[in-house]
Amino acid sequence: MSGVLNQHWHFAIVGAGLSGSCLALLLAREQRQWNILLIDTQAPATEPDHRASALSASTVDVLQTMGLWSDLEANTAAITAIDVSDRGHLGSASLNASEQKLRAYGHVVENAHLAEVFEQALPTFPNITRIQSSAPSLIKPRRGGMSLILEQGECLADLVVIAGGEHRALAEKLGITYRSYDYQRVAMVANLTMAEAHAGLAHERFTGDGAIALLPLSGEGEKRVSLVWTLPAEQAEAMQAVSAEGFIVSLNEQLGSRAGTALEVDYRQCFPVKKIIAAEQVRSHLLLLGNAAHSMHPVAGQG
Ligand SMILES: Cc1cc2nc3c(=O)[nH]c(=O)nc-3n(C[C@H](O)[C@H](O)[C@H](O)COP(=O)(O)OP(=O)(O)OC[C@H]3O[C@@H](n4cnc5c(N)ncnc54)[C@H](O)[C@@H]3O)c2cc1C
Repeated sequence: MSGVLNQHWHFAIVGAGLSGSCLALLLAREQRQWNILLIDTQAPATEPDHRASALSASTVDVLQTMGLWSDLEANTAAITAIDVSDRGHLGSASLNASEQKLRAYGHVVENAHLAEVFEQALPTFPNITRIQSSAPSLIKPRRGGMSLILEQGECLADLVVIAGGEHRALAEKLGITYRSYDYQRVAMVANLTMAEAHAGLAHERFTGDGAIALLPLSGEGEKRVSLVWTLPAEQAEAMQAVSAEGFIVSLNEQLGSRAGTALEVDYRQCFPVKKIIAAEQVRSHLLLLGNAAHSMHPVAGQG
């Protein structure tokens, strides 16, 4: 740790989640002489993330440039078509990537696979030092950079990046305020096995209570999909408590015939749905990144 404290860091990134790890890898690759300190309160993959992310085409380009796409692609499913419908209403929309001369609208990957690829890549860069440490108690400006007060002492960096996700205390200690809007909804996330292969088709289905998104996943004969079901909190609680069979029956009622039939669900995990935006995302020698800067409704799979 004393080595960490005595070095000059070009970048200190607080939070080694998807955003912080990705930035560390991008910076390390960009300039081999940049020294990057990546700090997290937790050891890698302490809590499994069961969510899946829809990666836009530009994100796939970035991962390709980083040389990571080849390790990831086998665990992704391309979204080649999108069906948008409104339960109880006639209107609907169908989009097809090939009609727009696109290979895919995006690719869906389970966050755990993405995190694994990042974790494997981090040690291959000697200019990244990853440490597990209690949260810095303070970040304060100093001439030409920032100092971080860690439990073990003070550490200096040209640029500090706060990428601590929903844990916003560090930014708030710097006087950064957040505007938030509570949608009064919970996003219930689960992986489903469907009766039919998804063939790259994603569904966005609006219901009276909230949106249901089904995103294609890789593997198992293309029958796995990632579900994001936004519901009022009390309904989500009930859906979490009900048996797997009861859950599937309720879900299929909402899906109707357009999105196919769900057969099985593995686990159910809930996230409150809020729009939270930091009033300041950039200061001299300071940057807020990822959920530390903003979080938004996951309705379009573009959180
Ligand atoms: C239902 C749902 C669906 C979503 N779908 C998509 C999607 O399709 N596409 C998409 O792009 N995004 C999606 N998102 C959003 C995406 O999951 C988040 O934007 C992303 O995971 C945020 O990553 P992060 O690195 O900013 O934060 P996190 O993943 O929360 O990581 C923060 C890290 O910081 C560490 N930490 C916290 N505080 C400190 C501290 N003080 N000191 C040191 N370390 C600290 C934590 O241990 C953690 O490792 C979705 C979100 C939800 C809820």
